Amino acid sequence: MEEYIARRLKGLEVGEEEREWLERAVDFHGHLCGGLIIGVRMGLLGLKELGVRRAKGEELLAIVENDTCAADGIQVVTGCTFGKGNFIFRDWGKMAATFYDRNKKRGVRISISPEALEKMREFREMIHKLLKEKGNLPFEEVFEEVRRELSGSNLEKKMEKTLLEMEDDKLFDVREVEIEAPAKARMFASVICEECGEAVMEPRARLKLGKIVCIPCLEG
Ligand SMILES: [Zn+2]
Ligand SMILES: [Zn+2]
Repeated sequence: MEEYIARRLKGLEVGEEEREWLERAVDFHGHLCGGLIIGVRMGLLGLKELGVRRAKGEELLAIVENDTCAADGIQVVTGCTFGKGNFIFRDWGKMAATFYDRNKKRGVRISISPEALEKMREFREMIHKLLKEKGNLPFEEVFEEVRRELSGSNLEKKMEKTLLEMEDDKLFDVREVEIEAPAKARMFASVICEECGEAVMEPRARLKLGKIVCIPCLEG
């Protein structure tokens, strides 16, 4: 793993803290990629802007606007995770995330800057071209194909260099946002589904002709 990171980051200017988090993120995510770099840097900047530490509980929230590789970087760095319920996904397909501190009731939205997008224009155009050529393939196949074509290419190196070396204030746009704090995740008691016998959270249980059932048994 260390060898892989060292090889991928060779010759690039990456700070000590960033390198450490990239390592942890790659460990979680499985590979280094542009999206992961963006997520790691976005998460670090979010913590810095809010002046908070990585979340142990639900004091910090991340609201991400895409479900790309960046989302994994954000989860690793901020400790806002799917499982803790403080990682919220808005399916808007935008490279942006809002970080919200429940204690200070402060939120910042961080998005990739137009300047950064311009710098990566060639790379984005290449992705467009490749996707068009491949047609409507499933993610896994497209990803593999695109990765094979771009892996180790100058275009990819240039993009990663841009993403790793651009200053925070050039790479991202940051603004304070006023948001309604989403409700905290709740714990629920479970009941036993009368069809499959498995436990199901009470608010997810349904009635089927007078029997308590889980959703798959209701729909199956
Ligand atoms: Zn990735
Ligand atoms: Zn069931």
